[in-house]
Amino acid sequence: MDASLQLLAFVFLNQALTTAIWWGAGTWLGLSRRAARHWVVAGLANGISLTLTVVNGGLQNTPQMLTAAAIAVLGCISIRRGMQAFLRIRHTDRSHIVLGLGLCIFNFGVCIPQNWLVAGMLAGGVVACSVLLACARETFNPIAREYSRGMAHAHNVIMASSASVFGGVTLTAVLPDVRWPWYHFSPQAGQFALVFTCVSLAILSSVLLLYFVVMRLVHKLEYMSQHDALTGLLNRRAIEMMLGREVQRLQRFGQRFAVLMVDIDHFKRINDRYGHAAGDMVLCKVAEALKAHAREVDRVARYGGEEFCVLLPHTEHEGAVQAAERLRAAVSQISIPWENETLTATVSTGMACARDTKEDLNSLLHRADAALYRAKAEGRNRVVVCNEVRAAA
Ligand code: GH3
Ligand code: MG
Ligand code: MG
Repeated sequence: MDASLQLLAFVFLNQALTTAIWWGAGTWLGLSRRAARHWVVAGLANGISLTLTVVNGGLQNTPQMLTAAAIAVLGCISIRRGMQAFLRIRHTDRSHIVLGLGLCIFNFGVCIPQNWLVAGMLAGGVVACSVLLACARETFNPIAREYSRGMAHAHNVIMASSASVFGGVTLTAVLPDVRWPWYHFSPQAGQFALVFTCVSLAILSSVLLLYFVVMRLVHKLEYMSQHDALTGLLNRRAIEMMLGREVQRLQRFGQRFAVLMVDIDHFKRINDRYGHAAGDMVLCKVAEALKAHAREVDRVARYGGEEFCVLLPHTEHEGAVQAAERLRAAVSQISIPWENETLTATVSTGMACARDTKEDLNSLLHRADAALYRAKAEGRNRVVVCNEVRAAA
């Protein structure tokens, strides 16, 4: 097989792979659909443009090269639009339309009829580099925030390398008589270098983007597995894991802590009288009040239907009673306008302090539950403490 056909096969294989990845991710897997659509366009555009650079005379064929430059710019714009959609940053469509259309009019309307290879390539190179570098600049902070600074640097390196490839192709077209390092051996070696660099960058860039997409999904699943969908608080599984760790700290370092079981009083009446939506609203407002009035280090979770669990690390009896009273008072201040009425809520709280290094988590929760049961029996809207480990039994 002739060398340029081999190059072509290589380009096609790579483009088919990257396009298939983004098409599959965007359609079947439903991952970042809008961004994936832009990246499919980018993959196809870059593949076509690279093909035009390799076949049929390549750099010597002015109309073909200027078409390649215009298509490559479309690819760069699609990469940037995909990043803007994925990272939810401001779209710069107006400048893309001006740049893209301007370049097409200049290349197809002026440079091809006049056979101005240098001017068209220069314009294409400048626009492609400016789009890629703008993409690198605007995505650095969002990537660093969501992933890490290392990933943001990696993305910038790929963007900057792609921009330098455009720079290299433009220089070669503008100054054809210079013996550029990539033409050191032969023009064909230069073509090989170009195709290998572009394909490697396309693969690296797809792998990095795929990492971003998959890690976002992993973070989302992690969040969903630890949080309650209605109130946004931690869920039972998450708080039980945290409580388990606190028990270990108590056993190892003697660090005491307290647990509150908080249950909304007569919640069923709210549901029965005003409906489930009103009940949900009350649940959210109570959750908000508990979260707002707990300390930064405390952990508030929705333990079950209308029951919440609060973990107070590093807290002894006195401090825990104060915190529980503060939370109880905060909930009793809630007023929620609902239709023509105002909904209010109170909570009963059972408290247990973990002091005994031999006590396990079940027994601790059992004590807090027993205290909650007593709070209900003694008239609700109050805090009751169960101090004795034996008392739970
Ligand atoms: P008590 O003061 O003794 O705790 O009485 P209560 O009515 O609060 O307790 P009970 O256990 O009888 O009722 C709890 C109700 O909470 C029953 C259930 O339908 C309701 N519930 C549980 N989860 C949800 C939810 O997610 N949304 C709504 N709206 N209601 C819920
Ligand atoms: Mg209740
Ligand atoms: Mg209950």
